[in-house]
Amino acid sequence: MGERSVSAGVELDGVSVTFGDVTALSDVTLSVADGEFFTLVGPSGCGKTTTLRTLAGFETPSAGTVRIGGVDVTDRAPEDRDIGIVFQNYALFPHMTVRENVAYGLRYRSPPGDADPDKRVAAMLELVDMAGMGDRTPESLSGGQKQRIALARALAPGPDVLLLDEPLSALDARLRERLRVSIREIQRELDITTVYVTHDQEEALAISDRIAVVNHGHVEQVGTPQAVYHNPATRFVAEFMGENNVFDATIEGRDPPQMSLGETTLTLERTLPTRSQVIVCVRPEDVTLGDGDVTLAANVEHVEFLGDTYRVHCDWNGQALLAKTRSEPTGDTVTLGIDAADVTVVGTREP
Ligand code: ATP
Repeated sequence: MGERSVSAGVELDGVSVTFGDVTALSDVTLSVADGEFFTLVGPSGCGKTTTLRTLAGFETPSAGTVRIGGVDVTDRAPEDRDIGIVFQNYALFPHMTVRENVAYGLRYRSPPGDADPDKRVAAMLELVDMAGMGDRTPESLSGGQKQRIALARALAPGPDVLLLDEPLSALDARLRERLRVSIREIQRELDITTVYVTHDQEEALAISDRIAVVNHGHVEQVGTPQAVYHNPATRFVAEFMGENNVFDATIEGRDPPQMSLGETTLTLERTLPTRSQVIVCVRPEDVTLGDGDVTLAANVEHVEFLGDTYRVHCDWNGQALLAKTRSEPTGDTVTLGIDAADVTVVGTREP
């Protein structure tokens, strides 16, 4: 649509938010670039919604600064921030038609470029693939259609920033996948800075330019989906973002650093501080049947057939180990192989 002219990156700088005794956010610093699709992901209660509400102006930080387009908006009311919001529960007005719901977004703000409001509403309905549905009422719409209308309403005034709080979590799995593709396409078309909240790590990987993994009110890691998945910065990220096998290992030599996994001594390519205890991880899809650089003899506990793969739950020396294999293992014991390149050092741990 090419309607945005202002730069509207979003920044949280040392932001803390407390509710009585509860610290919901602790010294959070994040920077979202203009036009970026940025996702906050983490478990229930970690502070995702509080982060979004703080950006929108519904929560006041006890410390820190919120900036939109480089301007300090920390003390600005929500209506004075150029933001569109979509919530999980649609929040459509039931007594209004679809058209009136979308037009509501224009009640307090002119359409961008002073476009004709009726034409603006029609363009928004077209954008979300709901043209011709303007006279319907929300109760006659499916969940996915309601969420499209909520998106059209949020976008109608041409906000600089779009905030989405678990917009898909009330929908069934297939619809979620379809609508997340639509949301991403619309975001790209408008080139609008977007902050998206989800507890679903697969959704976060699928939809985002970058992801912040949040835990207990602080940010554990910020990075591209690939970086967060393949190079987790902490044990929490390694275990939260997709399935993983996480091991404690010991560094035995320093130059080059070496560690033992099972019977195998691996030489590591990265430099490590002079500490001997590390956490390493190996993705289940990187554990194969048969020998590898690292070969482990494990007991098979349970096998699940998923169509394209088998999920093989094993016990290796008292440690649970998950492998995703193309063929079905036979017998109660199995030989598992891992390439040295697939062993990722997550971080060090206290001895
Ligand atoms: P969920 O995925 O379950 O929505 P979340 O990651 O969005 O969780 P928040 O809703 O931001 O988490 O909550 C963060 C913490 O702040 C939680 O411990 C929550 O109980 C607390 N909290 C949030 N809002 C309030 C409030 N209005 N009053 C008191 N505590 C609150």
